[in-house]
Amino acid sequence: MSNFKIVLVETSHPGNIGAVARAMKNMALTELRLVSPKLFPHADATARASGADDVLRDAKVYDTLAAAIADCQVVLGTSARDRTISWPVLTARQCAERWVGAADANIALVFGRESSGLANHELDLCHFLLRIPCNPDYSSLNLAAAVQVVCYELFVASGQKHPSGIGDVGEEPLASSEQMEGFYQHLLQTMADIGFLQPGGSVSIMRRLRRLFNRAQLDTKELDILRGILRFSQNHNLK
Ligand code: SAH
Repeated sequence: MSNFKIVLVETSHPGNIGAVARAMKNMALTELRLVSPKLFPHADATARASGADDVLRDAKVYDTLAAAIADCQVVLGTSARDRTISWPVLTARQCAERWVGAADANIALVFGRESSGLANHELDLCHFLLRIPCNPDYSSLNLAAAVQVVCYELFVASGQKHPSGIGDVGEEPLASSEQMEGFYQHLLQTMADIGFLQPGGSVSIMRRLRRLFNRAQLDTKELDILRGILRFSQNHNLK
């Protein structure tokens, strides 16, 4: 289970960070990543972590979500509410069934701010949205409670599965978030070079393209082929 990384974005209350560490350790998860926490380290975090201070002590702090997930091949963003743009949504159980046992991929589970969740530009970095099914009239769980449910599903699924590799995705390793970001930059530049994009008109097209490629879960070989096509299009356009 060490390939699962719990990522908390801009958590306001240090007590929640401690409660998350505890929830993780109960379910045999250890790797906690914090993106710009408001207050950390903090006595409230240590108090709420109880016996999970090792998870807290080893937590790594990052400036941006992109940096925190750079080495992850699968990025799952959690959300309590419907979004105006529809990312593909899976339940916590579906995520656990799909990725527990995929030991050759780093999998990030990204949790949002207590006040406002994750921003759209952060969800752009995610392959799927994970939702915990609950009362539609009161759907926002406390941050640590949400982490608890997700980690519980992973723990239950890990008891039922044997390591199996990533399944139907292919023989090559999946592309990491950092590699995908390089690809998106290249794609954006190519679309500008060939005159497909008007300057400034790229946000919603890029969001849809990201959704398409993130859903496809590209492996490194597939990414190489696509980047080769982009390079040829750019060169051809210069002639
Ligand atoms: N008020 C915020 C929700 C904050 S809850 C909003 O409107 O988005 C804090 C975090 O807990 C969320 O960002 C999400 O990561 C997680 N969370 C809470 N309820 C959830 C649910 N039903 N399904 C998945 N994640 C949930």
